[in-house]
Amino acid sequence: MDHFILKGGVLHAEDVPLSAIAEAVGTPVYVYSRATFTHHARVFKQALEAVLPRIHIAFAVKSNPNLAVLKLLAKEGYGADVVSAGEMDRALAAGMPAADVVFSGVGKTHDEMVRALEAGLGQFNLESEEEGVELAAIAHTMGKRATCTLRVNPDVDAGTHAKISTGKADNKFGVAYHHAAAIYARLAALPGLEMRGLALHIGSQITDLAPSRAAFAKMGALLDELRTAGHNVSHMDLGGGLGVPYRAGEQLPGPADYAAMVAEVTQGWDVTLMFEP
Ligand SMILES: *Cc1c(COP(=O)(O)O)cnc(C)c1O
Repeated sequence: MDHFILKGGVLHAEDVPLSAIAEAVGTPVYVYSRATFTHHARVFKQALEAVLPRIHIAFAVKSNPNLAVLKLLAKEGYGADVVSAGEMDRALAAGMPAADVVFSGVGKTHDEMVRALEAGLGQFNLESEEEGVELAAIAHTMGKRATCTLRVNPDVDAGTHAKISTGKADNKFGVAYHHAAAIYARLAALPGLEMRGLALHIGSQITDLAPSRAAFAKMGALLDELRTAGHNVSHMDLGGGLGVPYRAGEQLPGPADYAAMVAEVTQGWDVTLMFEP
């Protein structure tokens, strides 16, 4: 549901004719609707809160780094998922608490790690063992501990376009599933890191719940394995959001369907569940 509507043959964003905006600022121009963003942010968050005890939502800033949009989401209680210091700066400038910001991505530089630690970022999603070792050394030198999850590649086909699929074994993201427990144990032993859980993200524009369900179930098995080995696991980051309809009349799973699936597959996990729509 959105607030872009035809009134008398003229496309409006809420009550404003787009032609008036075009006249005022010229074209091309991106026009966002506050009412639409607020509505979708609430529907997604409320659907999860209704069936899950502890959640945190981190908006994937790569999808829209507009400061006004980030400010609006901050007011709705959203944190941010960032993949660069530039995105981190935007999230913080938008008023998101540093503790609500997650640093993902395979390209974190030494400098960015230092800046993120200085800012007191809430969580690093480690993409490899090497990255964890580097971050641990930096944090240790700064007299800090970096709070981290380990991103696991569950080797599940998200069923989306190959260019936006991230969770197959041949994608560059995360550590291999069958190496994850051993890598987690080695990283947890480093003084500069506070390992608190696992993360995954299998792709964007996912229009079927089955691949996510399969990936989460694999993560649940790994969670059990880590706890049995004596590790603390308090957070599980389940990655992105829902695919959106591109064609009129397309019926896709909605937030309530997604939340019900997550509640079922994560039952008994006893963690804070994190989402990065
Ligand atoms: C792209 C991305 C997201 C957003 O996922 P969607 O399914 O498109 O909402 C979340 N987390 C990470 C790490 C990403 O790369």
